[in-house]
Amino acid sequence: MKLIILGAPGAGKGTQAQVLEQTFSIPAISTGAMIRHAIKDETQTGIEAKKFIDKGQLVPDDMIIRMLEERLSMPDCKNGFILDGFPRTIPQAEAFDRNSDGSYKVISIEVSDEAIIERLTGRRECAVCATPYHIVNKPSSKGEICEKCGGNLITREDDTPETISKRLAVYHKQTEPLKNYYKDSGKLITIHGKESISDTTAELLAALGHKQD
Ligand code: AMP
Repeated sequence: MKLIILGAPGAGKGTQAQVLEQTFSIPAISTGAMIRHAIKDETQTGIEAKKFIDKGQLVPDDMIIRMLEERLSMPDCKNGFILDGFPRTIPQAEAFDRNSDGSYKVISIEVSDEAIIERLTGRRECAVCATPYHIVNKPSSKGEICEKCGGNLITREDDTPETISKRLAVYHKQTEPLKNYYKDSGKLITIHGKESISDTTAELLAALGHKQD
């Protein structure tokens, strides 16, 4: 199965991608997490990308397309993958289509801007393995420590109120047009992000025709 998950920052793409990764045993690939790793490792790409992320802007298409294509050529993507945060622009979607057999589905998770702002301010992430948490909706049972790997939970640097509103504006302007792009090609499935993560997962799996145990 090949899946693209669309949605505003904080809509729950990362959280749902991780559930789907477990359910379908295919890798969840977050371009945002890849960039944060590159920044931490101070690679050339990371140093360049940081200038954009800090301003709440998108990283240039050619940089992200190169990064994603390299990742998709790895053996673990042979049986499918879940893309979380890619594509974010029409040129990215077109680049993906040039190398694709078209056998993928697109899920758009809809959440209002008000709910997004509330969610992002409570969001936390493991500094080591990037597992997402939320102080209200998905707290770690170990407090400020990651349940999976024992890493410290941190607030992402781009989850400040000013950057959040910039990222939302960028989403509406540059990423939302992708909904029409995929509607036109008959690939778009729209679901409504719920308060509870498991309710959203249930709607998502039903939309994919997958029966839950
Ligand atoms: P995310 O973790 O998906 O919210 O991504 C964090 C940041 O990484 C975004 O605000 C962008 O600056 C950058 N980014 C992630 N994915 C992409 C993409 N597909 N195209 C451009 N920039 C991206």
